[in-house]
Amino acid sequence: MKNFSKKSLKKSFSKNIISFVLLLFAVVLLFALVASESFREVEEITLNRLAREINRENVEKIEVVGSTINIVFDDETLGMAKREPDISLFESLRNWGAEESKIRDVEINYEEEQDWSFMLTLLIIALPLVILLYIFRSMFKQAKGGAMQALDFSKTRARVFGEEGSPKAGITFNDVAGQEEAKEELKEIVEFLKNPKRFLGLGARIPKGVLLTGSPGTGKTLMARAVAGEANVPFFEISGSEFIELFVGVGSGRVRDLFSKAKKKQPCIVYIDELDAIGRARGAGLGGGHDEREQTLNQILSEMDGFAQDSKIVVLASTNRPDVLDPALLRPGRFDRKIILNLPDKKARKNILKLNVKGKPLSTSVKLQEIAERTPGFSGADIANLANEAALLAARKKKKKISQKELLEAIEKVLLGPERKSYAMSKKEKELSAYHEAGHAIVSSFLPDTEPVRKISIVARGQTGGYTIKIPSEETKIKRKSEFLSEMAVLLGGYIAEKEVFGEVSTGAANDLERASAYARKLVKEFGMSSLGPIHFKGEKGHVFLGKEMGEEKNYSEDTAAKIDKEISSFINEAAQKAEKVVKEKRDLIEKVVKELLEKETLERDTYENIIGKKSSSESKSPKKKESKGEKKKK
Ligand code: ADP
Ligand code: ZN
Repeated sequence: MKNFSKKSLKKSFSKNIISFVLLLFAVVLLFALVASESFREVEEITLNRLAREINRENVEKIEVVGSTINIVFDDETLGMAKREPDISLFESLRNWGAEESKIRDVEINYEEEQDWSFMLTLLIIALPLVILLYIFRSMFKQAKGGAMQALDFSKTRARVFGEEGSPKAGITFNDVAGQEEAKEELKEIVEFLKNPKRFLGLGARIPKGVLLTGSPGTGKTLMARAVAGEANVPFFEISGSEFIELFVGVGSGRVRDLFSKAKKKQPCIVYIDELDAIGRARGAGLGGGHDEREQTLNQILSEMDGFAQDSKIVVLASTNRPDVLDPALLRPGRFDRKIILNLPDKKARKNILKLNVKGKPLSTSVKLQEIAERTPGFSGADIANLANEAALLAARKKKKKISQKELLEAIEKVLLGPERKSYAMSKKEKELSAYHEAGHAIVSSFLPDTEPVRKISIVARGQTGGYTIKIPSEETKIKRKSEFLSEMAVLLGGYIAEKEVFGEVSTGAANDLERASAYARKLVKEFGMSSLGPIHFKGEKGHVFLGKEMGEEKNYSEDTAAKIDKEISSFINEAAQKAEKVVKEKRDLIEKVVKELLEKETLERDTYENIIGKKSSSESKSPKKKESKGEKKKK
């Protein structure tokens, strides 16, 4: 029901208004014309006078229209007179003294009366009706697109590629950077689709369903298309969320339709994006309302079970939440093969960048390697986005080529959202923000096991009032406890600085606290880094996904829960103390940084290091894993 949105309605409405006004205009114009026609300057004369003129043989022609007599005189001038009712013209002229023979000489025409007043009444009644009808019709037209789609129960809206006449998928493994393991696994599928007979002849069982999992933007859709492209087979793509419609039964109807279409095009690939939208564990929901999803899911399962032994359809599906999928989907003969797509490493990021800047003019200053180094934690989609943002930035600056500067700026934009230069912070807010960010930066610079600060800014960006970016180190999978503690201390640095300087804290630190607490919780519950020992405590995960984890049992007692909470708060306190110590000792440096920040708003690494008079502790740091998006943002 996409095109039935409020916005488009509004648009069509204003369009209607315009055409309505135009119509009105036309009508008024018409009236004016008609009116001017009938009110042309004509002298009205009495019947008496007309009779006299007839006697003088001055009248050439008389036209009788209703009760009006139009007269054309011999000298071509016009006149008019009113006719007497209930008596013929001839009679009345004779009564007024015109001679019979003279009357006969005049050419007299009788014309049907055109009753304008009747027409007018008709128009007044009909016009609003016509207009209303018109408006309704065009609104209905708008609605029809959406409504028909909902009413057209069983048709899939699957997009097909790779068929004759449809846009070729045209994507091969070469268009997917990195993901070598996944490609290796998928090659078998490609081979099968290319030459199904060979496999079927040997009685080999080819997986019917392959589940592509990985965080959003890791290229699952891209990979699925590449498989179709490599094998050169049609590709039916549909998103799980598209199955879910207004009416129960629509989803399963669509599934049936999709598969019956696919069967006609064998060998082919059916790709279901966002499988978790329909494939969530059944019966896990809170309350009812799952009939539709359940039916759809059942239909998918029965379609897959119903594949004949020699079926040449491979179903690929993607999800970023494999943990919430219904176990029935993962049984043998269904999505029994799982392929994981990882976030790209440095090399892959560089390659994705290369693919995405193809066709974009780059200046010689561009070093993709540096961009790849600065973007750990970015997904393929983030990088594609980055390349696009850089092009937009360059275009905005009216440059002919994209330079390194735009690419670096684009990293920050993708990471933090656009700068909100227009957001006017009050002086007080700016000061608060400056102390907060300086707190993060200084704590980071004077604690071991931290990363060097690359940039501090109090320009509002996205949701944040300011930010501190540190040079990210390449993601390694292992992180030590001391690194966690330093990281937490840096996160609390903003909070502590605010408290130290203003005696109270602001809401600006909420996000920092949330992240620091999450670290602490992980240290205790998952990494066994607390005094509770090497135990993994399960349960109460961060996100409750429609009941699945809400009902999940904790695997520890209430007693232990209390201990865990105590450990968590002791970690937080430890980190806070570390941060406080630095903030107190380096208060003078904080003041200097704040002064500079208030003046310049943004400090780059060199300026910052000059102020604090020391190279950041990059030498002392050891490789460590980055959480979330590579470059850290601190509010
Ligand atoms: P997902 O389906 O996993 O959410 P997509 O396949 O939609 O991700 O990826 C979005 C975009 O990100 C792709 O269109 C592509 O431009 C880019 N992308 C992601 N991963 C890669 C990769 N490995 N190589 C090249 N481009 C990639
Ligand atoms: Zn902060």
